[in-house]
Amino acid sequence: MAKRDYYEVLGVSRNASQEEIKRAYRQLARRLHPDANPGDPTAEERFKELNEAYEVLSDPEKRARYDQLGTADPRATAGFGADFGGFPGFGGFDEIFDMFFGGGAQRRPGPERGPDLRVDLTVDLDEVLTGAEKEVRVVREEVCPRCHGNQAEPGTRLEVCPLCRGRGQVEQIRDTLLGRLRQVETCPRCQGSGRWIETPCRQCRGRGQVRMERKIAVRVPPGVNDATRLRLQGEGGAGRRGGPPGDLIVFVHVREHPRFRREGEDLWVDVPIGFAQAALGADITVEGLGGERETVQIPPGTQPGTVFKIPRLGLPRLGGQGRGALNVRVGLEVPTHLTPKEREWLRHWAELRQEPVHGEERGLFRKMKDVLGGR
Ligand SMILES: [Zn+2]
Ligand SMILES: [Zn+2]
Repeated sequence: MAKRDYYEVLGVSRNASQEEIKRAYRQLARRLHPDANPGDPTAEERFKELNEAYEVLSDPEKRARYDQLGTADPRATAGFGADFGGFPGFGGFDEIFDMFFGGGAQRRPGPERGPDLRVDLTVDLDEVLTGAEKEVRVVREEVCPRCHGNQAEPGTRLEVCPLCRGRGQVEQIRDTLLGRLRQVETCPRCQGSGRWIETPCRQCRGRGQVRMERKIAVRVPPGVNDATRLRLQGEGGAGRRGGPPGDLIVFVHVREHPRFRREGEDLWVDVPIGFAQAALGADITVEGLGGERETVQIPPGTQPGTVFKIPRLGLPRLGGQGRGALNVRVGLEVPTHLTPKEREWLRHWAELRQEPVHGEERGLFRKMKDVLGGR
C-alpha cells in the first residue's frame, strides 16, 4: 500500500498549527478507531496510518524533517522505524492512547526495574584487617548491545501490535452461566509491550536482553564480617522497558584463620610459654595478625589460661574509627621429649618440691605397657 501524505491523512493544510493538527487527529481517531468499526478489516490499517501521521506531525522536529524530505517513507521520517531513537522511543504512544482511554486506564506496563542479584564473596581475616580489592564473577541479563533493548533487528520496522493495537491488553468477552463476562488480559501476541516485531534482533532473538558473564570489581572495606552485605548499585540485572538495572548484593564470608580467632572486633590468639617462663616471669614477643610485633610481660607465677590484652591490635571497626584488641591467652608448653640432663634436673626439682613422680624404671615399664595396649 502506497504511503499517503501525512497532511492528507489528517486532512489539514501544510501550514496547519499544532492545535489544528491535534484537533483533526482527535476527531478522526474517534471515527476511525477499530472499536468503532467492528468487522471492518481496513479500520485497523487506517487507524494505524492516522497514528503514524500524527506521531510525526505533532512533533515539531519530526514534522520539519518530514517537510524537508517531502516523503512519506517512515524510515526517512523516523516515524515508526526501529531506529526511531532507541529504547524506549515508543513513549509517544502513551500520550496518544491516554487521549482515548482517559489516562491510566488500560495502559501497557511501564518501565520495570531489573532484579537484584546475589553473589557470595569469601575474604581472609587479613583482608578484614586491611580491606581489599576483590573481583566477583556474575552472570546477568544486560540490555542487548545490538538493538539497545528494542528487540527488533536494527534497520527493520517496529510495528504497533495488530492484536491489541498498542495497548498491550485485550478485552475478552466470555459467555458464562452468570452472563457475559468482560475480562481484560495481557495481549498474548506482544506480551503486553504493545509492539510487534517483524524481524527480531539477531543477537538477542528479540528478547531485548542478553546473558553476559562479567567480572566486577568489589572494594571490600576494612572490618567486614559474615553479616556484611555490600550493595553495588546498578550492577544487577537489566531493567525492562527502559527501567533501571537492579543492584548486585555481595554477601561477605570471612574465612577462618589457622591462628587467630575473631570475636567482634577483638582477636584471640593462643601463645604457649614454658614452665620456667610462667614461674619466673619473662618478656615474650607476640605477632599480631598484620605482622606487628608486640612484647608482652609475663609476670612471675602466671597461670595457664591467663589473658593479656594488647589494645589496638585487633580488627578495625566497619565504617568506624579505631581497632579492637588482641587477647593473648598463654598456655603451658609441656615438653614431650627430654634430654637425660633435663630429666635429671626435673627429678631434682620434684625432689625439692616433694612431688612424687614416676621412677626411671617405672616410667619405662609404663611406656612398654602403653605400647602393648594394656593399662
Ligand atoms: Zn537485541
Ligand atoms: Zn499486543
